[in-house]
Amino acid sequence: MRKIAVVGAGIAGLLTAHGLRRAGFDVSLYSDRTAETWLSRSRPTGSACRFEAALAYERELGLDGWHSDAPGIVGATMGYCPTPGVRLASLMGRHERPALAIDVRLQSHAWLNELEARGGRVFIEHVTVARLDAIAAEHDLTIVAAGKAELASLFPRDPRRSAYSKPMRTVAMVIVTGPAPTIDGMPFTGVKTNKLEGVGEAVWIPYFHRDAGPSWSLIFEACVGGPMDIFGGARSGEDALACARRVIAESAPWDAPWARSMKLADPLGWLVGSVTPTVRAPVATLASGRVVTCVGDTAVHFDPLAAQGANNGTRMARHIVKAVVDRGDRPFDAAWMCDTFNRFWEADGRHAYELTNLFLEPMTSAGRLLLLAQFGSDGVRLDGRQRIADFIANGFAEPVALVPALTDPTLARRIIEQATGRSWLGAAARGALEIAGGQLRERIAALRA
Ligand SMILES: Cc1cc2nc3c(=O)[nH]c(=O)nc-3n(C[C@H](O)[C@H](O)[C@H](O)COP(=O)(O)OP(=O)(O)OC[C@H]3O[C@@H](n4cnc5c(N)ncnc54)[C@H](O)[C@@H]3O)c2cc1C
Repeated sequence: MRKIAVVGAGIAGLLTAHGLRRAGFDVSLYSDRTAETWLSRSRPTGSACRFEAALAYERELGLDGWHSDAPGIVGATMGYCPTPGVRLASLMGRHERPALAIDVRLQSHAWLNELEARGGRVFIEHVTVARLDAIAAEHDLTIVAAGKAELASLFPRDPRRSAYSKPMRTVAMVIVTGPAPTIDGMPFTGVKTNKLEGVGEAVWIPYFHRDAGPSWSLIFEACVGGPMDIFGGARSGEDALACARRVIAESAPWDAPWARSMKLADPLGWLVGSVTPTVRAPVATLASGRVVTCVGDTAVHFDPLAAQGANNGTRMARHIVKAVVDRGDRPFDAAWMCDTFNRFWEADGRHAYELTNLFLEPMTSAGRLLLLAQFGSDGVRLDGRQRIADFIANGFAEPVALVPALTDPTLARRIIEQATGRSWLGAAARGALEIAGGQLRERIAALRA
């Protein structure tokens, strides 16, 4: 039986380890946290809202605990604010299948224990570079799934594929209980995004928390140095919550009544930091000359804005497991590692990376066109506007379809015409007129008040 080592017990490492174990490999997993540490003394590494392809792999591996308890994320609403305080357009789209955001601490705790129960070996240690070399010597293949920790830097940044060399946002996450399970007239439980041009994005994700169950994960993606970039001084969850209240009051005041009752879900349920979106080479050569490969955030590190990191890590885990099985008895050499990653990147990973990067930049003209043409989607009606909104919402689960539509105005026009059965210009003009009418009514109401 071929021996495989996995370093890191986040989503990507554990799914890779389980997939390999199920395929009959002798699997050793190295983690610097015990299952208990994950559960009670860790911060969640992110909200990890996952779409159907990722959830399907969890079901396939029998790791779908909480799938029926967590609030199903049926769709998404997005308000686009070109200037602070002004909501210009909104979208209400549905996913084909519900997404789920389950506390990664619950999952890593359970999946670590389950790996041992299924015959995997779990070693609790902080793996150093020298130790990694020793582990690689004992195994046919070693896969590093250490997130963005130091071991990631063994894998050189790929400058051709990495679009940025510095963070595009300062990121904060606060998990709260209290607010109602739906928001802003959404006819279903869904993600809400306030896209505030020049300020950043404030995203509310229905979440399943370790202790509290149904709750909300609030994500703040602040443009560096902008008015939302105030979380840097937070030293506790309560500090982060106070910043969250301030941002909502100042930049998304329409959500303030909904947020009024929010309380911190647990003292560790928050994060503040930043991410430089990075793609790494899939091979690290150790001092001995041995090679190791990587999966998850270690391989591709996303800004969280478009909810792609955990999804990508899961699909990549599945891809690597299949490539290992297909390799038979042949060696897991550097050429195989490169080929395995390149095939994943071309067919899958690059689209998720591009989608995230598109959202980090000002909205494209094709994106604006789609937003105008879908205006009036309400998540209920079955008309052309709704079909466009559903296409956009669903595109987070299928970046390969959404990226071309957001970057190619000709394609965007064709999508609008197919969905609405009318000319793209007519559909966009109608959306623009309705938005203008809504703005006018709001102004008149404000003057009368
Ligand atoms: C605020 C925020 C919101 C997010 N929201 C989403 C979302 O909605 N959807 C989505 O898909 N993604 C989201 N993400 C991204 C997602 O959380 C990550 O992509 C995912 O959790 C990464 O999993 P991983 O297993 O690759 O790495 P990690 O979760 O970082 O796990 C790595 C593990 O390796 C261990 N480790 C590190 N070094 C060593 C060592 N030397 N020895 C032993 N063990 C080691 C660490 O302790 C850790 O347990 C979000 C991220 C953030 C920050």
